Amino acid sequence: MMQSFTHEILRDYEEKRNRARRQREDRLQEVYDKVPKIREIDEKLQKTGLTISRMLIQGVDDPEKAIENLEQKLDRLKQERAILLTENNIPLQYLEYDFSCVNCNDTGFLPNGQKCGCFKQQLITKGYSMSNLSNILEKENFQSFNLDIFSDEPFDGQPLTPKQNMMNILNVCEGFVFNFDENSKDNLLFYGETGTGKTFLANCIAKSLLDREKIVIYQTAFKLLEILEEIRFKNSDNREKYNLLFETDLLIIDDLGTEMTNTFTNSELFNIINSRLLSGKKTIISTNLSPKEIMDRYDDRIFSRLFSKFTALHFFGRDLRWERII
Ligand SMILES: [Zn+2]
Repeated sequence: MMQSFTHEILRDYEEKRNRARRQREDRLQEVYDKVPKIREIDEKLQKTGLTISRMLIQGVDDPEKAIENLEQKLDRLKQERAILLTENNIPLQYLEYDFSCVNCNDTGFLPNGQKCGCFKQQLITKGYSMSNLSNILEKENFQSFNLDIFSDEPFDGQPLTPKQNMMNILNVCEGFVFNFDENSKDNLLFYGETGTGKTFLANCIAKSLLDREKIVIYQTAFKLLEILEEIRFKNSDNREKYNLLFETDLLIIDDLGTEMTNTFTNSELFNIINSRLLSGKKTIISTNLSPKEIMDRYDDRIFSRLFSKFTALHFFGRDLRWERII
């Protein structure tokens, strides 16, 4: 399955590069029509470049001197070209390729031959069916977060009002994003009733980190365990997809407790959480379960990791799903 994703992604890259090339051709043509002198310079540049290559291959009497002369000529031409562009109000970058990823120029690979982050993120997006995530993240992000929908009245005997509580949570989440690159061993556990903003906050964090070109996997526990089962029992060919769970910069497991719980899920879950802790990779888990329910439902080893290595944030307040704002 991963194999076909890879093919699909590589094909997308090729299309992107072709598009970037065509668009640059169009812009170049436009510039040539406007300032014909630039075409002449480009032709001279090309010829001079060719002469240098030919000299390097065929050899001349004093190659260093000859090449130095030609390089000076190249510099003069480039300068002349830059001046012409400026005089005609054409920004220098207008004639550059407009690749969507500046790290790999839409090839998917870095100069050292490793997969670019954008490649990994696409494998994740396809492999973990996250393709609708970007639509959600357009709406659910720190910019669209509205504290005012949380009540400032006491709630259910809690020492803070839902609004005060949410202000604290928001601070922790923004700090999490801000310090993401530091080896701070930050992990977050969101717990509390449905409709109190847990998924929204997780989305805010995902969006900020994706914007910073971090690699993020976002999946519900239910779906995640389904995928793990599939990898384990049906398809041995999915190593890469499996490994991404350990390698991704951030793993968000939403709705812990909605998955089937058995020995297999318990040990897989522990393995993922614990391996990520050991390698200093960050994880966010959200759940409707109370700490007591988590304790009843999962191994001691999972419970103890969650409550010693994660910052537990309690979400409470009225169910806001019905307000259609969150
Ligand atoms: Zn890239």
